[in-house]
Amino acid sequence: MSIVIVMLIRAVWLLIGPSVGCDATNAESIVDLSHPLNSQTLHWPEARDFELRVTQNGTVRRGETNIWIQSDEIYMATHTGTHLDAPCHFSRGKWSVADIPIINLVDRPVAVIDVVAQSVATRDYELSVDDIHSWEKMNGQIPDNSVILVRTGWARFWPKKLEYFGTETKEIPLLHFPGVHPSAAQWIVDNRQIVGIGIDSPSIDHGQSKQYKSHQILNAKNIYLLENIAQTIHKLPAIGSSLTLLPLKIEGASGTSVTVIARIDAKHTSISAKCAPNLSLAFMLSLLASFVTLRYIIS
Ligand SMILES: [Zn+2]
Repeated sequence: MSIVIVMLIRAVWLLIGPSVGCDATNAESIVDLSHPLNSQTLHWPEARDFELRVTQNGTVRRGETNIWIQSDEIYMATHTGTHLDAPCHFSRGKWSVADIPIINLVDRPVAVIDVVAQSVATRDYELSVDDIHSWEKMNGQIPDNSVILVRTGWARFWPKKLEYFGTETKEIPLLHFPGVHPSAAQWIVDNRQIVGIGIDSPSIDHGQSKQYKSHQILNAKNIYLLENIAQTIHKLPAIGSSLTLLPLKIEGASGTSVTVIARIDAKHTSISAKCAPNLSLAFMLSLLASFVTLRYIIS
């Protein structure tokens, strides 16, 4: 009898054990929001192409043995691919890339505002104050010291230049893509406390912008911008994830390519759902174990 009970308790523990320690830090909860850098990488029309130049690639003699060495150089504009606009980009005297406090770049709460439907309907759509109000009705106030990510759906066009920019030429007046309306940018700086704002299109100001007013309004408050966020943004919940980005520490630069990583809180991933079947199975086995134990005690 006691052997049966011990075996049942052991079975229950084996099932509960891994579930109790469900670790939120797994591949599923970490999302890379950056495009890779390669010869296909898109950049502002007037800038140079990204280039990786391999300067050494082969075996060389070192002492008595041959060793393998690859060395290379990169050539690129600072605003290439998924990148950060430092506040000094459109506001004189504000932070350059290297000046942004690390606290503004690590583990920041994220508010994802979805305007995919509006951007499908209107190529030059701009996030409005009404969009923010609607989002806050559903999700609560945009958290302090957070990063807003605007999801337009534009990343689905990457890296097709014509669809992404609206033109394959360097003609700025021909650009068509969604952005953030200056009145929304103004409302944000007047009413909320954010450290950064990103978008999955080429720029925070939409393609038809001439004065880049949203850049000016946000940068003037030392708010950094993230542009060309990747399509993986669709994996993020409206609220319940945090963002970390570690830009190259280029002193004096107005921008840099950057790898942007989001971590989704455990309750917003399917991790908890994966743990749940184990727990319910364990619960049923516990009941069975109790029943068997009671039966033997009574008999
Ligand atoms: Zn930029």
